[in-house]
Amino acid sequence: MESPDSAERSHLDLPLKPVQPSDEDCCGNGCVPCVFDIYDEEVKIWERECKRIRRKVKQNSGDALSQGPPLSTSEYRQFQILSVTEDTADTHLYRLALPEDVSLGITTGQHMLVRGYIDGEPVTRQYTPVSDVNTEGYFELLIKLYPQGKLSKLVRTWKVGRLIDIRGPLGNFCYKANQHSQVYMLAAGTGIAPMAQVIQTVLSNPDDETILRLVYACRTYRDIHLKQRLNEWAGYWNFSVLYALSKEDCKTRSTVYRYGDAIHFGRITASLLSTEIAGHSQRSKKFLICGSKPFEQDMVEMLNHAVSQNLEYFRF
Ligand SMILES: Cc1cc2nc3c(=O)[nH]c(=O)nc-3n(C[C@H](O)[C@H](O)[C@H](O)COP(=O)(O)OP(=O)(O)OC[C@H]3O[C@@H](n4cnc5c(N)ncnc54)[C@H](O)[C@@H]3O)c2cc1C
Repeated sequence: MESPDSAERSHLDLPLKPVQPSDEDCCGNGCVPCVFDIYDEEVKIWERECKRIRRKVKQNSGDALSQGPPLSTSEYRQFQILSVTEDTADTHLYRLALPEDVSLGITTGQHMLVRGYIDGEPVTRQYTPVSDVNTEGYFELLIKLYPQGKLSKLVRTWKVGRLIDIRGPLGNFCYKANQHSQVYMLAAGTGIAPMAQVIQTVLSNPDDETILRLVYACRTYRDIHLKQRLNEWAGYWNFSVLYALSKEDCKTRSTVYRYGDAIHFGRITASLLSTEIAGHSQRSKKFLICGSKPFEQDMVEMLNHAVSQNLEYFRF
């Protein structure tokens, strides 16, 4: 049998090869079986175990691929939580497992339905993965926990290893590379989720020259979601972000802001949007909007004033 190298061994969780006895381990009295006979037997058993594990892993990944996309619109399927990470004080990032080499099978901007049972009654809510749609082996949900929220109460109890019922994908957003020279994203709070997908789709495609501008409304600097990732994305030539902080106390300045962050202290206003758009008037642009219903309505109203003709927008 081909001996597994350490990478394969740890990847497939193969058992370690039995340790060969040294000459000193043999008493030389012709024992039956001798320590070397036992070793030979152990190696054969070990080889058979490795073969069995390899075959099982191959079969499992074959099964996963042959089953098609891991999500189904017509039935709930279970996904295991791999990790839970705090993103902001009231919002966590949940990483859920996919088979190795398999991605979620959604298109950019799509979301899914999560189901939980509260006192025996099913409760379903929609969530948008924030991981790149092409990520293999896992996907991530960014979920805000509302103090009185129904599903929030259940999500608060989610721990690593738990199986979550999910169905999807849903949503009819369609992104085409280079269709618009500029895409403006107006997001509030967890409305960053579909934007995160769009950003990663654009930035991971070197042939996509779309310029992305995110105007992100949050209460304070500490409430900005996915901040580390936004910092990384801001390193790309075609992505920039303006944080509009409605409740940040800019007078006491107790928060340390990251060098280079563009911050507007206050809400997103019509004049802020007009300034944002001015200077790029000749370019073809699209607006993507995601937040609470009142936020989205406000943005559409303001854009209607700021953009004189052919306002192209999409509300997630
Ligand atoms: C397409 C889509 C994608 C989404 N993606 C995400 C995402 O990625 N991440 C995310 O965190 N959320 C997302 N959401 C929101 C999410 O689906 C839930 O609405 C949210 O998590 C709250 O669910 P809940 O059951 O915990 O709270 P709910 O019980 O639905 O209540 C939510 C909040 O509203 C308050 N509330 C409830 N009912 C009323 C009422 N009648 N009047 C006033 N206030 C009320 C509650 O007290 C609570 O504070 C998305 C929503 C949509 C439509």
